[in-house]
Amino acid sequence: MIAKSNAPRTAAVVTALGLLILFALRAARTRAPQARVARTLESDDAVTYFIAEGNRSTGYRPGDRELALWAFQAWQRSAGKGLRFERASESAALIRVQWAEPGGGEYGETQPLLVHGKHGAVVFIRPDVEALGPDIARRASSDNLLRDSIVYLTCLHELGHALGLAHTRDFRDIMFFFGYGGDVAEYFGRYRAQIHTREDIAAVSGLSDADVTRIRAMYARE
Ligand SMILES: [Zn+2]
Repeated sequence: MIAKSNAPRTAAVVTALGLLILFALRAARTRAPQARVARTLESDDAVTYFIAEGNRSTGYRPGDRELALWAFQAWQRSAGKGLRFERASESAALIRVQWAEPGGGEYGETQPLLVHGKHGAVVFIRPDVEALGPDIARRASSDNLLRDSIVYLTCLHELGHALGLAHTRDFRDIMFFFGYGGDVAEYFGRYRAQIHTREDIAAVSGLSDADVTRIRAMYARE
């Protein structure tokens, strides 16, 4: 009888846990960071960056550094002349891309960093997209271009934070936050549908008109 009377409670706990996990997976694309690379208004200094070599244990693939590089280039192309990236050593770089183990269903995370008194950011990308939930895992395991699209768009989103952009509620934006709802698979699938080869990622930015307007406003030269 004990088992019987406990059953509804157990079911409720399991349901609550399931909802929690589902929420975490859907909502937690990133923690809201306050990272922002300081604009040097008085100079034309480049924003220095570093992209780490990954480790297979994180789900990293050798081409992923290139995906991160393409994300830097997409922001630079869109921002206009006020934003220029320049490669640097890890210890000197204002923006540092690291590859992280799966965690909490998050795609990526950006943390503020001070580099010789300047504001920078460490961008953590979780390249193991199969850890992001069964639906994404199933689709990505049979489609490498979808998997690469997700890693690329995650780099783009987190770099947006590093550059000072906040989340938006507009599903079209790269800075859209999954916590506001919307179909995550559709979000990535929309980008995936625009590319036919991996190299296409270098040319298809994934930024919305509003993303471009915001980054231009932020890095426009006075
Ligand atoms: Zn975010």
